[in-house]
Amino acid sequence: MKMDHIGIAVANLEEALAIYSRLGFASGQQEIVPAQKVRTAALAIGESNLELLEPMEEDSPVGKFIASRGQGVHHLAFRVDNIEEKLQELHVAGFRLIDRKPRLGAGGARVAFLHPQGTLGTLIELVER
Ligand code: ZN
Repeated sequence: MKMDHIGIAVANLEEALAIYSRLGFASGQQEIVPAQKVRTAALAIGESNLELLEPMEEDSPVGKFIASRGQGVHHLAFRVDNIEEKLQELHVAGFRLIDRKPRLGAGGARVAFLHPQGTLGTLIELVER
């Protein structure tokens, strides 16, 4: 697996982009992902990205995350060649899956999340591009 992106929950995308711009990042592609109720911006870092995530509603996964834990690193995303195969493999290995089947993520990728209870508290996303 390769690192695909690191998802970072932010309360305000424009403010976050201003800070990352001052850190030296070029402002990346912005997108709305209705399935996850977020606005995202992808900032290239090597062959992967930082994915800034601003919740569009308080009652959304990222909105609830910010309400309970504040802004910051939200998930790690690993790139896989065949997401169905990997999900099946992890299911058989006993991992708890949030998504049994892939859904549509940013950039038209197919994504699925593993439950953080099985991964030492870190939310992990699988991505097939
Ligand atoms: Zn992600």
